Amino acid sequence: MLHCLRSLVSLLIVAQLFGCAAPSRSEAPTSATGTWALAIHGGVGTLERSASAAEQQEYLDALRAALEEGRARLARGESALDVCEAVVRVLEDDPHFNAGRGAAFNEQGQHELDASIMDGSTLACGAVAGVRTVKNPISLARLVMERTSHVLLMGDGAEQFASTVGVERVENAWFDTEPRRRMLDEVLRERAATSATAPNTARASNYGTVGCVVLDREGRLAAATSTGGLTGKRWGRVGDSPIPGAGNYADRYAAISGTGTGEVFLRHQVAKSIAARMELAGESLERAAHEVVHEVMRPGDGGVIGVDSAGRLLASYNTEGMYRGFADAAGRFELRIFE
Ligand code: ASP
Repeated sequence: MLHCLRSLVSLLIVAQLFGCAAPSRSEAPTSATGTWALAIHGGVGTLERSASAAEQQEYLDALRAALEEGRARLARGESALDVCEAVVRVLEDDPHFNAGRGAAFNEQGQHELDASIMDGSTLACGAVAGVRTVKNPISLARLVMERTSHVLLMGDGAEQFASTVGVERVENAWFDTEPRRRMLDEVLRERAATSATAPNTARASNYGTVGCVVLDREGRLAAATSTGGLTGKRWGRVGDSPIPGAGNYADRYAAISGTGTGEVFLRHQVAKSIAARMELAGESLERAAHEVVHEVMRPGDGGVIGVDSAGRLLASYNTEGMYRGFADAAGRFELRIFE
């Protein structure tokens, strides 16, 4: 009897201790309704700070077209998911960025594209990896989310799915652009000279992934990310962009899209870590992103854009610059590359 009582007391103490030590989950945020906000990015690389004003202007114009598309759609009351998809399609079609047309070449001189999209209000997500003939991978990712019971389709299976849903197809060479070809030549030359076997991730010009994060008028968050991956990557390599939680993530706390060395984003589950810090430690989006980008990741690894449930927008990066844009219902419309 005494023995039973003692065991019970110890159990209670352990339970109490555990209860005290357990992190208290911050209350689920009430999303702002009636307002809206969006951020876009076009990667953290390609241009050096010394690039001419004309070159910088080209990128700013390309970003402006995407941001305007998103702003107009949100002002009309479209959903976060629709806006994310539409904005990323604009960026995929623009050859300046490493996604869709303008995608990086792999080491075999081919393009293998990755993309994912996520609805923060339901945690529904869809993704494709290693697709070769789909003009807008982000739209195929959305169809994986909506028309299958799966999250991620890859390679031939994704291509076959694309045939059954009738998305626009192109030859692989349609994604070719001269600047990306030159980058591949450079990477392969450098690799031959140093007998390195992996992409030089210190080369910022590798990064040009595109992404969009949105809070819509109904208070729903969504994120979308699309990429050609790293220049000179191995055939079959999959990065972070199509992996929910790594390069793309949305829940009720935040929507995050990343760009940089995919392997780092995968190891640290960068996008989910930021949202988890907000949920479990009650950190602000700004604080959580800063901690992950500057304390967990290393200089040169990349960056993220994000929006929280109140419509606060953010970009945080540990590279020289990041192509980015912000717009909201209060009239903000801002494009930036460096500072
Ligand atoms: N994160 C992408 C990847 O590793 C590259 C990029 O951001 O440009 O596939």
